[in-house]
Amino acid sequence: MSVPEVLAHLRALEAETGRQPGSVRLVAVTKGQPPEAIRERVLAYGEHALGEGRAQELRDKAALMTGPEIEWPRIEWHFIGTLQRNKIKYLKPVTLVHGIEEVWQAEAIAQAAQGWGRAPDLLLQLHNGEEQKHGVRPEQLRDVYHQVMHTGLKVRGLMVMAPDDADEGATLRLFEDTARRAHDLGLPELSMGMSSDYPLAVRAGATLVRVGRRLFL
Ligand SMILES: *Cc1c(COP(=O)(O)O)cnc(C)c1O
Repeated sequence: MSVPEVLAHLRALEAETGRQPGSVRLVAVTKGQPPEAIRERVLAYGEHALGEGRAQELRDKAALMTGPEIEWPRIEWHFIGTLQRNKIKYLKPVTLVHGIEEVWQAEAIAQAAQGWGRAPDLLLQLHNGEEQKHGVRPEQLRDVYHQVMHTGLKVRGLMVMAPDDADEGATLRLFEDTARRAHDLGLPELSMGMSSDYPLAVRAGATLVRVGRRLFL
């Protein structure tokens, strides 16, 4: 599907589920895609929020995609991967980090951000119930949230990924549970839904859907 088709689908899903028009934003997941493909498939349609999962790849692309030979739009870089301590230094271009799962990650970003002169906002990743997967356990969420807030960075919401083997019912329940927890904490942003399950995420209240493969088929 092209970006315009996915956007039209999002608008239709919003209407179907009683969401405000435009309340769901597309984050185009561009990991593994070269700058030219990103320009043709995403930026050409005026969509500028790009999700990258590897810190060095993000840094390299951000450096390439700023001109001067080609005029690039102002890109909004989102980091959606797993944060490793020694790679945080590459995240200077990022405006939103989707997957904070431990307090030290926020502390390290806050420290690096002092040198950057600007700081990204954060989303806390909620554990999805699958063994050995990432995320903050639900029972620790409030505590981690308060500790992350103390870094001075802004926590804007929650992020979650459905387990690979979850059926539609389980996925919808996970998304609805995540929405409830964000609401209880007074957090406005919900990053959930990928190529395979974003319609369920919109139904449950997602404000950011992270769609990759579907845009580049
Ligand atoms: C790769 C990735 C996506 C996009 O997945 P697709 O199936 O390509 O749409 C979304 N979120 C995260 C965290 C990812 O790593």
